[in-house]
Amino acid sequence: MGLPAPAEGALLRRRRSDLGARGPAPARTCGACDRPGAAARTLELWRAGPQFTGETPLPSPAGSSLLAGESGILVVAWQLEASGELADALLARVRENVANEVEELLWGSPGTLLAAHAMHGWTGEARWAGTWQESADALLERRDGDGLWTQRLYGLPPARLLGPAHGLVGIVQALQGNTHSELARETAAVLAREAIVEGDLASWPPEAGGEMENSRGEIRLQWCHGAPGIVATAASYLDEELLVAGAELTWQAGAHGDEKGAGICHGTAGNGYALLKAFERTGDERWLERARRFAVHALTQAEQARIESGRGRYSLFTGDPGVALFAADCLDATARFPILDGWD
Ligand SMILES: [Zn+2]
Repeated sequence: MGLPAPAEGALLRRRRSDLGARGPAPARTCGACDRPGAAARTLELWRAGPQFTGETPLPSPAGSSLLAGESGILVVAWQLEASGELADALLARVRENVANEVEELLWGSPGTLLAAHAMHGWTGEARWAGTWQESADALLERRDGDGLWTQRLYGLPPARLLGPAHGLVGIVQALQGNTHSELARETAAVLAREAIVEGDLASWPPEAGGEMENSRGEIRLQWCHGAPGIVATAASYLDEELLVAGAELTWQAGAHGDEKGAGICHGTAGNGYALLKAFERTGDERWLERARRFAVHALTQAEQARIESGRGRYSLFTGDPGVALFAADCLDATARFPILDGWD
């Protein structure tokens, strides 16, 4: 992966200088940008539509999706400038999504559970706790007898996926807003059963009981499918030997190339979160150092992509902001995967 250790040092120095050597920390809003206004405009444009394009059949309802619909925009807009109108609209979206036919975080109720949990934390209002519970109860009702959920997504045959974006560990993460230690234990057993272990390395296929290779002969080792996302999302309850084996495979495989890029969904920074979580769980500094190496590499990739395309990539999951948050977490030696571990 080519890791410029001097670049890591430079990154650390730059952070220190930003934190005070040249005066107070920068304000949350800069003179040139009106962030609440930008969020309001985004919401306006989203509502004006068309919201979705393409031929792929989308889940119903699609508009309440946390990551592709209105819910995520509403959370961000509310965070930047709270209003009753935004909160009410979000509450309606969360409730609309209770029975979403897709059991996963991107479109379905696990995503809106995360929004309700965050709003309850920020406001303390009982209506958010009640809505969270309503969604959680319905989701647990739909759980299969063996501890998995079945995804019916994009018109594809039903599948029981394992990763955080569309499968098991993302759902369990969303349900952890309450105390569900039994759920964590049972999910750890499912993950132990589904792991593919070779020596001191481990990974998971995208689908329970499925093959590691897809129809194109590719093995996915990224946050959304494979060991990095399982380790990063199930780190608090996954069997420690499996966690270390999954993190070790992620490290040995190295950073993603240009095709997948730097982002947190299926790029270098997303894989880096597995290393950072391994540090958090084991306390072994070797993992922190490895995570920082991924961060420096991901920053270089993001910078290079910006030079080549002439613009940044403004997506949390597949673009520059996710890379920046991962790098910041590496500097702080904390592992808070955006949204799944919190919004602040
Ligand atoms: Zn992805």
